[in-house]
Amino acid sequence: MTSLTTVRSLRPTRIEIDTGAIAHNVARLGALTHRPVCAVVKADGYGHGAVAAARAALEGGAGWLAVAIGEEGLALREAGIDAPILVLTETPIDAVPMLLAADLTLSGYRAPFLAALAAAGRHRGRPVPVHVKIDTGMGRVGLVPDTWTADLASLMQLDGLVVDGLFTHLARADEVDDPTTDQQLAQFDLAVAAATAAGLRPTWRHAANTAAALLHPDAAYDLVRPGIGIYGLSPAADVDAAAHGLMPALRLVSKVGFVKRVRRGTPVSYGHRWSAPTDGWLATIPIGYADGLPRALSNHADVLIRGRRRNLVGTVTMDQILVWCDQEEPQVGDEVVLLGAQGEEHIRVEDWAAAADTITYEIVTQLTARLPRIHR
Ligand SMILES: *Cc1c(COP(=O)(O)O)cnc(C)c1O
Repeated sequence: MTSLTTVRSLRPTRIEIDTGAIAHNVARLGALTHRPVCAVVKADGYGHGAVAAARAALEGGAGWLAVAIGEEGLALREAGIDAPILVLTETPIDAVPMLLAADLTLSGYRAPFLAALAAAGRHRGRPVPVHVKIDTGMGRVGLVPDTWTADLASLMQLDGLVVDGLFTHLARADEVDDPTTDQQLAQFDLAVAAATAAGLRPTWRHAANTAAALLHPDAAYDLVRPGIGIYGLSPAADVDAAAHGLMPALRLVSKVGFVKRVRRGTPVSYGHRWSAPTDGWLATIPIGYADGLPRALSNHADVLIRGRRRNLVGTVTMDQILVWCDQEEPQVGDEVVLLGAQGEEHIRVEDWAAAADTITYEIVTQLTARLPRIHR
């Protein structure tokens, strides 16, 4: 019987991940912040493959891994990863026993959830460590300022629970001159003081995502929690990952699948939104929006063929795109680089994000499972 992996590898369109770059980036973020790194590998390692990203991060010196949901933590354990893993959001209460059995560290912020953790701790006769999320201004989840003093005091009274971490998440750390981050950190300091006054002694206070790790030394506390930066990508248009010594880990490549010469004025693809400006060569590449190449890149991106930038022309279709090669005849089988370097040229995830009016995070997390990930 043919395995799925074998079937997938028939396709020339694939993602290549340089795991050494991830290890480098984790080490770099640790060196820049002088803190242990909690490497965020949620959403399948931001599309890079969670298990490989986690292993590379640990190789780069990460002390912790973080995921968004319980299932992502279980998948890392099933792959044999035994490092500390923090689940960043509350999980369903009925999943708690299974997640604790896998030695995942859970986050909590709602009283019924925290009570359930404490009950689990009493049941097993050993307190459950929890990282309590504080909402200092993200406005999403976490203990809120009006009640956190009382909430933290009541946690001190809960048998079976130990508050081993306190953390918060920053809403505008990527905006260099915005005062919000300083205000959020001041709020966080108040929450830490309230915890201390209540008698809690959290080992890990943490707040810094990638942008804060790069731009706000005050946010480092006991642990930094970068995600996008460990993949070498910029958290925002104004925060250049490369300028901080981070290296992109992902290449997206394919091969020319079809070549034809067309006459000036020949229209192509859905809606005929592009026509050949002169007589010349057109290449068809087997990748489309079903692979996660945004349809918004129609007529708005370049690819690399034979070391040169060529325009993606016409509407991006589900499975194929068209590339104008002008007067240079490409050959079926020529390597096409959609993201990454070829020769002297380089196309960045940041370029796609700008052209598609989105952020690097959305580009890489939307690369679909149809693309095989090859890790080197
Ligand atoms: C996703 C996430 C991070 C990582 O953020 P980046 O901007 O990718 O560095 C850190 N902390 C929390 C709570 C998150 O949800």
